Amino acid sequence: MNKIKMTWHGHACFNIDMGKNILIDPFIEHNPVAKIKRDDVKADIVVATHGHSDHVADALPIATKNKAPIVTMVELAWLLQEKDHSLAIHDLNFSGSITIDGIKITAVPALHSSSFEEKFAGNPGGMILDNGNTRVYHAGDTGLFSDMKLIGEIYRPDIAMLPIGGHYTMGPEDAIHAVNMINPKIVIPMHYNTFDMIKQDAGHFKEMVEEETNARAIIMDIERELEIVVE
Ligand code: ZN
Repeated sequence: MNKIKMTWHGHACFNIDMGKNILIDPFIEHNPVAKIKRDDVKADIVVATHGHSDHVADALPIATKNKAPIVTMVELAWLLQEKDHSLAIHDLNFSGSITIDGIKITAVPALHSSSFEEKFAGNPGGMILDNGNTRVYHAGDTGLFSDMKLIGEIYRPDIAMLPIGGHYTMGPEDAIHAVNMINPKIVIPMHYNTFDMIKQDAGHFKEMVEEETNARAIIMDIERELEIVVE
Protein backbone atom coordinates (compact mmCIF):
# COMPACT_ATOMS: atom_id res chain seq x y z
CA MET A 1 0.00 0.00 0.00
CA ASN A 2 1.44 3.34 -1.05
CA LYS A 3 0.17 6.76 -0.19
CA ILE A 4 0.72 10.02 -1.96
CA LYS A 5 -0.85 13.40 -1.40
CA MET A 6 -2.13 15.48 -4.24
CA THR A 7 -3.55 18.98 -4.55
CA TRP A 8 -5.06 20.34 -7.75
CA HIS A 9 -4.69 24.07 -8.45
CA GLY A 10 -6.98 23.81 -11.49
CA HIS A 11 -6.10 23.24 -15.17
CA ALA A 12 -3.06 20.92 -15.41
CA CYS A 13 -1.34 22.21 -12.28
CA PHE A 14 -0.86 19.85 -9.34
CA ASN A 15 1.26 19.52 -6.25
CA ILE A 16 2.12 15.85 -5.85
CA ASP A 17 3.76 14.92 -2.57
CA MET A 18 5.39 11.55 -3.09
CA GLY A 19 8.25 11.91 -0.62
CA LYS A 20 9.28 15.14 -2.30
CA ASN A 21 6.75 17.79 -3.19
CA ILE A 22 6.54 18.07 -6.95
CA LEU A 23 4.77 20.97 -8.60
CA ILE A 24 3.80 20.18 -12.17
CA ASP A 25 2.68 22.62 -14.88
CA PRO A 26 2.60 25.72 -12.70
CA PHE A 27 -0.19 28.06 -13.79
CA ILE A 28 -1.46 30.06 -10.85
CA GLU A 29 -1.39 33.81 -11.25
CA HIS A 30 -3.50 34.02 -14.44
CA ASN A 31 -5.34 30.77 -13.86
CA PRO A 32 -9.00 31.81 -13.52
CA VAL A 33 -9.84 28.82 -11.31
CA ALA A 34 -6.78 28.79 -9.01
CA LYS A 35 -7.56 29.61 -5.39
CA ILE A 36 -4.03 29.87 -4.03
CA LYS A 37 -1.58 32.77 -4.22
CA ARG A 38 1.55 32.11 -6.19
CA ASP A 39 3.71 33.04 -3.20
CA ASP A 40 2.02 30.34 -1.12
CA VAL A 41 2.77 27.50 -3.54
CA LYS A 42 5.46 25.13 -2.25
CA ALA A 43 7.70 22.90 -4.32
CA ASP A 44 10.85 20.81 -3.94
CA ILE A 45 10.92 20.16 -7.70
CA VAL A 46 9.11 22.05 -10.47
CA VAL A 47 8.20 20.09 -13.60
CA ALA A 48 6.81 21.58 -16.82
CA THR A 49 5.50 19.45 -19.68
CA HIS A 50 5.71 22.13 -22.39
CA GLY A 51 6.07 25.84 -23.03
CA HIS A 52 2.50 27.10 -23.31
CA SER A 53 1.84 29.77 -20.73
CA ASP A 54 -0.99 27.81 -19.11
CA HIS A 55 1.63 25.19 -18.14
CA VAL A 56 4.80 27.11 -17.37
CA ALA A 57 3.84 30.72 -16.59
CA ASP A 58 4.75 30.53 -12.90
CA ALA A 59 7.66 28.09 -13.10
CA LEU A 60 10.47 30.61 -12.75
CA PRO A 61 9.09 32.66 -9.83
CA ILE A 62 8.02 29.56 -7.87
CA ALA A 63 11.31 27.75 -8.52
CA THR A 64 13.22 30.87 -7.43
CA LYS A 65 11.22 31.34 -4.24
CA ASN A 66 11.46 27.66 -3.26
CA LYS A 67 15.07 27.21 -4.48
CA ALA A 68 13.71 24.28 -6.48
CA PRO A 69 15.16 22.81 -9.67
CA ILE A 70 13.06 22.77 -12.83
CA VAL A 71 12.73 19.69 -15.04
CA THR A 72 11.38 20.14 -18.55
CA MET A 73 11.90 19.38 -22.24
CA VAL A 74 15.24 20.38 -23.79
CA GLU A 75 14.44 23.45 -25.84
CA LEU A 76 12.11 24.88 -23.22
CA ALA A 77 14.86 24.34 -20.64
CA TRP A 78 17.16 26.49 -22.80
CA LEU A 79 14.56 29.25 -23.14
CA LEU A 80 13.90 29.28 -19.39
CA GLN A 81 17.62 29.23 -18.59
CA GLU A 82 18.13 32.30 -20.81
CA LYS A 83 15.75 34.16 -18.49
CA ASP A 84 17.49 33.02 -15.31
CA HIS A 85 21.04 31.72 -15.34
CA SER A 86 21.06 31.11 -11.59
CA LEU A 87 18.41 28.36 -11.53
CA ALA A 88 19.07 24.63 -11.91
CA ILE A 89 17.09 23.70 -15.03
CA HIS A 90 17.30 20.10 -16.19
CA ASP A 91 16.59 19.27 -19.82
CA LEU A 92 15.02 15.95 -20.79
CA ASN A 93 14.07 14.42 -24.07
CA PHE A 94 11.84 11.44 -24.82
CA SER A 95 12.62 8.28 -22.81
CA GLY A 96 15.23 10.22 -20.87
CA SER A 97 15.13 10.35 -17.08
CA ILE A 98 16.64 12.26 -14.24
CA THR A 99 16.50 11.28 -10.57
CA ILE A 100 16.33 14.12 -8.07
CA ASP A 101 16.12 13.38 -4.34
CA GLY A 102 14.77 9.88 -5.00
CA ILE A 103 12.15 10.91 -7.56
CA LYS A 104 12.77 9.56 -11.03
CA ILE A 105 11.26 11.82 -13.70
CA THR A 106 10.98 10.49 -17.25
CA ALA A 107 9.84 12.39 -20.34
CA VAL A 108 7.41 10.61 -22.65
CA PRO A 109 5.81 11.84 -25.87
CA ALA A 110 2.71 14.00 -26.07
CA LEU A 111 0.86 14.79 -29.27
CA HIS A 112 0.65 18.57 -29.08
CA SER A 113 2.84 21.62 -29.79
CA SER A 114 5.11 23.80 -27.70
CA SER A 115 6.03 27.47 -27.75
CA PHE A 116 7.19 29.91 -25.11
CA GLU A 117 6.69 33.66 -25.42
CA GLU A 118 6.05 33.21 -29.16
CA LYS A 119 9.26 31.22 -29.68
CA PHE A 120 9.23 27.59 -30.81
CA ALA A 121 9.97 25.50 -27.72
CA GLY A 122 10.75 22.05 -29.11
CA ASN A 123 8.54 19.07 -28.46
CA PRO A 124 5.92 18.87 -25.74
CA GLY A 125 6.06 15.95 -23.34
CA GLY A 126 4.24 14.01 -20.71
CA MET A 127 6.07 13.12 -17.50
CA ILE A 128 6.31 9.93 -15.46
CA LEU A 129 7.07 10.49 -11.77
CA ASP A 130 8.33 7.46 -9.83
CA ASN A 131 9.34 7.42 -6.17
CA GLY A 132 10.15 3.71 -6.20
CA ASN A 133 6.70 2.74 -4.92
CA THR A 134 4.17 4.74 -6.88
CA ARG A 135 4.23 5.84 -10.49
CA VAL A 136 2.29 8.84 -11.70
CA TYR A 137 1.81 9.77 -15.37
CA HIS A 138 0.98 13.40 -16.09
CA ALA A 139 0.12 13.39 -19.79
CA GLY A 140 0.58 17.15 -20.31
CA ASP A 141 -1.50 18.49 -23.16
CA THR A 142 -2.05 15.77 -25.68
CA GLY A 143 -4.27 14.34 -28.32
CA LEU A 144 -4.87 10.62 -28.43
CA PHE A 145 -2.00 8.52 -29.79
CA SER A 146 -1.50 4.78 -29.93
CA ASP A 147 1.91 4.81 -28.19
CA MET A 148 0.02 5.50 -24.97
CA LYS A 149 -0.24 1.71 -24.94
CA LEU A 150 3.55 1.52 -24.82
CA ILE A 151 3.65 4.12 -22.03
CA GLY A 152 1.23 1.92 -20.10
CA GLU A 153 3.25 -1.25 -20.71
CA ILE A 154 6.66 0.19 -19.93
CA TYR A 155 6.00 2.60 -17.08
CA ARG A 156 2.88 0.91 -15.59
CA PRO A 157 1.52 4.10 -14.04
CA ASP A 158 -0.65 3.65 -10.95
CA ILE A 159 -2.21 7.06 -11.48
CA ALA A 160 -2.74 8.86 -14.79
CA MET A 161 -3.69 12.51 -15.07
CA LEU A 162 -5.28 12.98 -18.47
CA PRO A 163 -6.65 16.09 -20.20
CA ILE A 164 -10.34 15.88 -21.05
CA GLY A 165 -11.17 19.46 -22.03
CA GLY A 166 -11.19 19.03 -25.82
CA HIS A 167 -10.36 21.89 -28.22
CA TYR A 168 -6.61 21.90 -27.42
CA THR A 169 -6.36 18.32 -26.15
CA MET A 170 -8.27 15.06 -25.99
CA GLY A 171 -11.89 15.29 -25.00
CA PRO A 172 -13.61 12.76 -22.74
CA GLU A 173 -14.29 10.11 -25.41
CA ASP A 174 -10.68 10.04 -26.60
CA ALA A 175 -9.52 10.03 -22.99
CA ILE A 176 -11.49 6.81 -22.44
CA HIS A 177 -9.49 5.20 -25.28
CA ALA A 178 -6.35 6.53 -23.57
CA VAL A 179 -7.34 4.96 -20.24
CA ASN A 180 -7.84 1.62 -21.93
CA MET A 181 -4.39 1.84 -23.52
CA ILE A 182 -2.55 3.06 -20.42
CA ASN A 183 -4.47 0.86 -17.98
CA PRO A 184 -3.76 2.80 -14.77
CA LYS A 185 -5.48 2.02 -11.46
CA ILE A 186 -6.63 5.59 -11.00
CA VAL A 187 -7.47 8.30 -13.54
CA ILE A 188 -7.61 11.97 -12.65
CA PRO A 189 -9.09 14.24 -15.32
CA MET A 190 -7.48 17.65 -15.84
CA HIS A 191 -7.37 20.56 -18.28
CA TYR A 192 -11.13 21.17 -18.25
CA ASN A 193 -13.50 23.89 -16.94
CA THR A 194 -10.69 26.45 -16.73
CA PHE A 195 -12.19 28.44 -19.61
CA ASP A 196 -15.53 28.17 -21.44
CA MET A 197 -13.81 26.62 -24.46
CA ILE A 198 -12.85 23.51 -22.48
CA LYS A 199 -16.03 22.98 -20.48
CA GLN A 200 -16.75 19.32 -19.74
CA ASP A 201 -18.89 17.22 -17.44
CA ALA A 202 -16.32 15.46 -15.26
CA GLY A 203 -19.03 13.44 -13.52
CA HIS A 204 -20.04 11.93 -16.84
CA PHE A 205 -16.38 11.20 -17.61
CA LYS A 206 -16.09 9.38 -14.27
CA GLU A 207 -19.12 7.24 -15.14
CA MET A 208 -17.59 6.37 -18.52
CA VAL A 209 -14.26 5.45 -16.89
CA GLU A 210 -15.98 3.16 -14.45
CA GLU A 211 -18.21 1.53 -17.08
CA GLU A 212 -15.74 1.20 -19.93
CA THR A 213 -12.30 0.73 -18.33
CA ASN A 214 -10.63 -1.14 -15.44
CA ALA A 215 -9.67 2.11 -13.70
CA ARG A 216 -11.40 4.22 -11.10
CA ALA A 217 -11.70 7.95 -11.64
CA ILE A 218 -11.12 10.60 -9.01
CA ILE A 219 -12.54 14.07 -9.64
CA MET A 220 -10.42 16.45 -7.65
CA ASP A 221 -11.71 19.61 -5.98
CA ILE A 222 -9.44 22.61 -6.39
CA GLU A 223 -7.23 23.14 -3.32
CA ARG A 224 -8.64 20.17 -1.40
CA GLU A 225 -5.66 17.98 -0.61
CA LEU A 226 -6.35 14.35 -1.29
CA GLU A 227 -4.50 11.39 0.10
CA ILE A 228 -4.44 8.69 -2.54
CA VAL A 229 -3.77 5.12 -1.55
CA VAL A 230 -2.56 2.89 -4.34
CA GLU A 231 -2.95 -0.80 -3.60
ZN1 ZN B 1 -0.49 23.36 -24.53
